Amino acid sequence: THPGNPKEQLGAVGSLLPSEPIILEQEGSAWQLVPRKIQELTIKGCQDPFMVLDLDALVGRHQTFLQALPQVQPFYAVKCNSRPWVLRVLAALGTGFDCASQGELEQVLGLGVAPSRIIFANPCKAVSHIRYAARSGVQLLTFDSEEELAKVAQHHPGARLVLRIQIQKSQSSFPLNDKFGAPLEACGHLLQAARDLGLAVVGASFHVGSDCQTPQSYQQAIADCHCVFEMGRRAGHHMSLLDLGGGFPGTEGSKARFEEMARVINAARAQYFPEGTGVEVIAEPGRFYMESVCTTAVNIIAKKAALESGGHRKLKYYLNEGYYGAFRIFLREPVSRIPIAVKEFPSEPSLLPCTLYGPTCDAFDRLSLKEVQLPELDVGDWLIFPDTGAYTSSMSSTFNGFPIITVYEAMGPHLRSLLETAP
Ligand code: PLP
Repeated sequence: THPGNPKEQLGAVGSLLPSEPIILEQEGSAWQLVPRKIQELTIKGCQDPFMVLDLDALVGRHQTFLQALPQVQPFYAVKCNSRPWVLRVLAALGTGFDCASQGELEQVLGLGVAPSRIIFANPCKAVSHIRYAARSGVQLLTFDSEEELAKVAQHHPGARLVLRIQIQKSQSSFPLNDKFGAPLEACGHLLQAARDLGLAVVGASFHVGSDCQTPQSYQQAIADCHCVFEMGRRAGHHMSLLDLGGGFPGTEGSKARFEEMARVINAARAQYFPEGTGVEVIAEPGRFYMESVCTTAVNIIAKKAALESGGHRKLKYYLNEGYYGAFRIFLREPVSRIPIAVKEFPSEPSLLPCTLYGPTCDAFDRLSLKEVQLPELDVGDWLIFPDTGAYTSSMSSTFNGFPIITVYEAMGPHLRSLLETAP
């Protein structure tokens, strides 16, 4: 199959106006756009990098999340990928949103999402952003310090606050514990301080770190939130919201880990917050929804070969997308990404140690610190990186004059009709 009636009026770089997605003849065929676009661009002689974003797959991720965690309401973490069509689809599916700044609040509210479906989940906010939340009716705000309480008391006294706690034990690819979260020992004091300021604390939250490796971390964190609920009630707060944060893995290969997390969460919820106690449970998944939904194709724009002592060849490939574009997150990932080479070889090619660089003049602009094993390729060849939907385009810059990557969003007829009938 191939897309019918492609409407590819891509918006200006950085524009928040949603460009029209490509409408596919049937669901599940978005990946076929990758070779098709490669062919088209190669014929045109314009081998710019691009990303395909499969909006049907995004719907699938949402369904998988709800199936595994039926009592948890997802508030999608906008920072993970803030493409307008991603937000539009999720808004139509009825998710809530976790926003980190005024800009994200504006983007989500601009879609017509009710302020009650938003949590402003950055524990350290600028005063002007707090004021904007107050003006816009966004009431759920996280905090983890007394200083934040003082700002909220002055600028948003009607807020419904959620106390973000530190995690005791967790292994994750991107830990967040140093920067955010109040230690359990400090929570009693913070809850009393909120009470003294006349502020309402309604719940507790945590983040086990993005791409969490240890499902049991949720059990400990939920148990700790239970303690915070008890402390809050003693201080006179009406505690009714448990926020599990993010941390859920996003690749297809991490299915078993996600299922284990869901088992741990469902059991801990039944133990500490059983049904009938009136506690609403939400989460802020980002990576889980987005990582596997995008595929990126890049082109080799330059190449160098070097001879090592012993006569071994090493290669340097220079790609037209890199650290300052959509691949900023790669350097912080525990395992180097190995792209798929789009090239036919007469027989199984031997692999060589290769360094992958981005296109800018900065030496830091590379895709991994270690070499990766790839076949001998040439200038003009294409490489494909799957699983590039999380923290990629949303972290891009135009450093050195390289534009933000073009993203082709695609959806099938079912999703299109859902969006047409969505309120
Ligand atoms: N919630 C908060 C407060 C975060 O800071 C983040 C990520 O940094 C997320 C949710 C999303 O996390 P993940 O992508 O691991 O689901």
